[in-house]
Amino acid sequence: MMWTEAQEIPVRQETEVLVAGGGIAGVAAALAARREGARVLLLEKSVLLGGLATNGLINWYEPLCDGKGEQMIFGLAEELLRLSIRYGDHTLPEIWRDRTVPPDKTKVSPLKQDHIGGRYGTYFVPTLFQLLLDELLLKEGVELRLDILAARPHMDGERCAGVICECKSGRELLPAKVVIDATGDADLFYRAGAPCDQGQNYLSYVAHLWNTPNPTHTMKHRRWIACGSDLHGNGHPDNYPTISGLDNEEITRFVLDGRRMLLDRLRETECQIKDLALPSMAQLRTTRHIRGTSIMSEVDQGKERSDSIGLIGDFERPSQWYEIPWGTLYCNGFPNLLAAGRMISAQGWAWEVTRVIPACAVTGQAAGVAAAMMARRGVSAQSLDVKVLQEGLRSQGVRLHHYP
Ligand SMILES: Cc1cc2nc3c(=O)[nH]c(=O)nc-3n(C[C@H](O)[C@H](O)[C@H](O)COP(=O)(O)OP(=O)(O)OC[C@H]3O[C@@H](n4cnc5c(N)ncnc54)[C@H](O)[C@@H]3O)c2cc1C
Repeated sequence: MMWTEAQEIPVRQETEVLVAGGGIAGVAAALAARREGARVLLLEKSVLLGGLATNGLINWYEPLCDGKGEQMIFGLAEELLRLSIRYGDHTLPEIWRDRTVPPDKTKVSPLKQDHIGGRYGTYFVPTLFQLLLDELLLKEGVELRLDILAARPHMDGERCAGVICECKSGRELLPAKVVIDATGDADLFYRAGAPCDQGQNYLSYVAHLWNTPNPTHTMKHRRWIACGSDLHGNGHPDNYPTISGLDNEEITRFVLDGRRMLLDRLRETECQIKDLALPSMAQLRTTRHIRGTSIMSEVDQGKERSDSIGLIGDFERPSQWYEIPWGTLYCNGFPNLLAAGRMISAQGWAWEVTRVIPACAVTGQAAGVAAAMMARRGVSAQSLDVKVLQEGLRSQGVRLHHYP
């Protein structure tokens, strides 16, 4: 049975760039658009920024380097990594600590997390990172609305004229010149009718456990307690269905079964439990991502792209790299809607490489700069000159190509 609702909705003042979702991608998009001179409004359905990286307790920032002592990822991805460890404990290897000197390559270790010569990645304290994200965004003049759901796009033909939102004060229409979907789930693209692909998740659950009587170096003692599957499906319970993460009852089951596995595990553990933190969002690696104008795949590994909007490395395979095509951030027929983060257009292992924290910052930054330019020039994603976009990204410190 269906019911049709007719309702008058208050319309707020138009913004230039509206970003839906305050995960790493949304934060990077909002900052980049603001630095490019746009008026920016960022909407987040929870009350804390950072998405999976903070609310989801995924506090391992995958590396910015190639595993051989060369940095590959720059720009906001690096700035946010540094922010995440400004005050809290961390595990950044020694060779990467002082960025005024190049890393000592004689000390590079093949291990990702070696204390001296490991890769340019780190654990961070999620709560401190959240406080610093608030401060940074507000200082730079990004307008923030928390506890607000970007429910659906308001379409005017092909254009997305704004976003219809639900919050405590009711329903509102927030008009915008350009909209960035950084929901992680492509909520706005999907509801606008854009082509999207769905993923499937194995059952897994990560919490943080502290179990030391004498905490000196907290990161040694605050550790992931992971239950169920790894990212490849090893450990997924027999006969348990995989999860799309797009159905509310399924998400509820995924979260509750994860917590049940954790509790069973804690009951079995020998050590005395001191403290525990649980994620406040469903830890779904993949839900929905757009099928954009370009689809990045494994054949793009190691390939130079003249339309690159950012260089990223493969977090599992040292030395492998991708130049992300501009067309992975938009779909033909949706001129002012851009994607950022784990929902961009990529498939297979290439998608896995784009969904980790630094890569989400890279695509967020690209979407932000592009959105500001599109809003200012009144042009669509398709007609934005990629060379001009690349110039804007370079001036924000982004590295576009593997070979200079
Ligand atoms: C189990 C697991 C382990 C992982 N391990 C690692 C790791 O070790 N290292 C690593 O770098 N990466 C890891 N990742 C991947 C990484 O954490 C995420 O892919 C990345 O943080 C996603 O960032 P995002 O901004 O694209 O999306 P998200 O973090 O999902 O952010 C989306 C934000 O949008 C908000 N939102 C959603 N819908 C709406 C809406 N309609 N309106 C308003 N707000 C909305 C959400 O509340 C959220 O804050 C892991 C992921 C998982 C699930």
